[in-house]
Amino acid sequence: MQNDTASHPAPRVGLVSLGCPKALVDSERILSRLRAEGYEFSRAYQGANVVIVNTCGFLDSAKAESLAAIGEAMAANGKVIVTGCMGAEPGAILARFPNVLAVTGPQQYEQVVAAVHRAVAPAHDPFLDLVPPQGIRLTPRHYAYLKISEGCSNRCSFCIIPQLRGDLVSRPAAEVLREAETLVKAGVKELLVISQDTSAYGLDLKYAPSTFQDREVRARFLDLARELSSLGVWVRMHYVYPYPHVDEVIELMAAGGLLPYLDIPLQHAAPSVLTAMKRPAAQEKTLERVKRWRETCPSLAIRSSFIVGFPGETEDDFAFLLDWLKAAELDRVGCFKFEPVSGAPANALPGAVPDEVKAQRYKRLMETQQAISAKLLKRKVGSRQKVIVDALTATGAVGRSSADAPEIDGTVHISSRRPLKVGEIVTARIDRADAYDLHGTVAGY
Ligand code: SF4
Repeated sequence: MQNDTASHPAPRVGLVSLGCPKALVDSERILSRLRAEGYEFSRAYQGANVVIVNTCGFLDSAKAESLAAIGEAMAANGKVIVTGCMGAEPGAILARFPNVLAVTGPQQYEQVVAAVHRAVAPAHDPFLDLVPPQGIRLTPRHYAYLKISEGCSNRCSFCIIPQLRGDLVSRPAAEVLREAETLVKAGVKELLVISQDTSAYGLDLKYAPSTFQDREVRARFLDLARELSSLGVWVRMHYVYPYPHVDEVIELMAAGGLLPYLDIPLQHAAPSVLTAMKRPAAQEKTLERVKRWRETCPSLAIRSSFIVGFPGETEDDFAFLLDWLKAAELDRVGCFKFEPVSGAPANALPGAVPDEVKAQRYKRLMETQQAISAKLLKRKVGSRQKVIVDALTATGAVGRSSADAPEIDGTVHISSRRPLKVGEIVTARIDRADAYDLHGTVAGY
């Protein structure tokens, strides 16, 4: 946020949103509620009557970033409400910033809104009609995140999200579908399905059906995916684990209903490391499964993330991971050096990997993957790809193909002889590729 001295009669709220897409969805819900009560929003600290900082507490580096953001908001505005993952540890925040107005944990929308009321009362007449029915979104109008559940019932040893957010709580299928339908009516062209564990959707509800339009829809990954695929927009699946029941969803992708894209955070490939990580689906034969998925749906793009330097990771384990990556040829890969997170069981595991070894392994993994990604992108040269336009440029636009999720994957730079519109989906002929991005021309003109 910047500083300015704009003043306004309606109470104004500033918001700093840190962390993952799930936190972004929380921020959107808070803003929607406040907007419904007549609050306005300020992009500047000093134009705001109160500032909400939605924090991330996943890694120690994210905590440091969150504390820095709280410090900045305190210095520039002084009336600060802290929420989000780090809010689950109020002691750490209050020790450093005893004057923050309130500290609330993740998804505690009510408490955040109540704290805002205490800091600055809502306007007399709530401008309810100012709220568009789809709520306020922080993502561009043409794509939106759709959160299908909260929490996680897995217990990965490096993660404290279940401690922060609790066990899996799925939203009924009808509620998710109504939100999706409203978003589509409001002009959204791409839905990004998120949760901590999308493949576990509905397990806690025992897949109970709920009524959407005039039919019963079970709270089950496949059933939800099938319904979403009939909305006529791009639907992209994030945070899926390689369980056998995902095979059926790949068939839907092959049939064209869902984007042929899966974001599967695998974190490692060596069995002993996966066991020490306590990863979901650690016993599945993932490489075979990935190969089968590609036979079913040859255009499938797979993104994943990996951790190097996990306690006990040997040179052999790391070599196994590199070989696995070469065999799997994943389209996009993110890599993290293991970092202890306070409260995570992995911190007590023996075999800490020295920082310089972590750094070397990180470099080797990224170099290996860069060569794989470049090879895969090169294969696309000469092909035709559907591209969703994210932003306009002097000669055309920057967009994304079905293989690219916003913000985390690559882009497609397209030139066009006709004017393009943000959110439009065009067909582009791919002319060249570099390490991460594609370049093409809108076909048919
Ligand atoms: S699946 Fe594992 S890493 Fe992901 S939120 Fe659940 S416990 Fe954490």
